[in-house]
Amino acid sequence: MEVEAWVASVTLAETFVIAREAADSADVVQVALRHDGVTGHGEGAPIERYRESAESALTFVEEHAGLLGDDPFALEEIGARLSEVPGEQAAKAALDAALHDLQGKLLGVPVYRLLGLPRVGPPTSWTVWLGDPDDMARRAEQAASRFRRLKLKLGGGDGLDVERVRAVRGVTHLSLQVDVNEWWSLEEALDALPQLAELGVEYCEQPLPAGDEGGRVLKERSPIPIYVDEDCHVLADVAACAEIAHGITIKLSKSGGIREAIRMAHAGRALGLGVMLGCMVESGLSVAAGCCVAPLCDHVDLDGNLLLRDDPWPGVVFVDGVQVPSEEPGLGVSAAGT
Ligand SMILES: [Mg+2]
Repeated sequence: MEVEAWVASVTLAETFVIAREAADSADVVQVALRHDGVTGHGEGAPIERYRESAESALTFVEEHAGLLGDDPFALEEIGARLSEVPGEQAAKAALDAALHDLQGKLLGVPVYRLLGLPRVGPPTSWTVWLGDPDDMARRAEQAASRFRRLKLKLGGGDGLDVERVRAVRGVTHLSLQVDVNEWWSLEEALDALPQLAELGVEYCEQPLPAGDEGGRVLKERSPIPIYVDEDCHVLADVAACAEIAHGITIKLSKSGGIREAIRMAHAGRALGLGVMLGCMVESGLSVAAGCCVAPLCDHVDLDGNLLLRDDPWPGVVFVDGVQVPSEEPGLGVSAAGT
């Protein structure tokens, strides 16, 4: 297979703010794999929190392209070779997505069919990023007619997190979930979670720092389910997550692609965990791959491309709050203007 990779920048419609950072754009790595005159595309969104950048992802693809070999259907063997090189999960996710896209195009079927999964999964949440309570309520109200659930970013560090949720609850009856991005201590979590339960919050994502020893206590005492994101990257993390959480958050850019994400979803189920699929700020090329895994999950947060000013890889359709993959072969998306 011929491999080409590059860095692309996606531009947000509005500045995105979470507990640890703010951004107007995001850099992603995109790859093209050519085989028998057919090209498969994939994208990965590197996560700075895990010491990955678009440049490090690009370097990984360029240095390890030889590990792909010549058979785009040999996913197990390719995955085993790539996993011998540690890290750079976003780069691996880009390669995995491109391999799936290529397979689908070679066979003339969409990837969700290739995986034997239904086309339509749960509705996506819309992310209301961190701001003052009134500002978050205003943005929640604006989005409420288009979405069936909202995800509120918390972790303001100013004692106002419960007020943020109360303000949003005051303007909408939509299902709410919150994501603290590791910003609470055990004491803060034990204080806030019962109040969030009263406000009808369905579950809380990553209240404590990854690896925090308070996780077991919180799992026992929280009145609402705890989902872990920063604690859960790949299949090997899932069993330990069952000790500290009621659910896991899978992202392709952490798992290294569709194949590992599916393994994680099944492992989570076997351990009695809830399964959520999340995403990064990313184009429709990444979201198209996420859509293929979504039907295996209880909750879906796949709004990455909807947060952009323009999606450079259109094809995923947003229908009644659900991100639905195209019925075209492969991932079913193509670069805008091509
Ligand atoms: Mg999260």
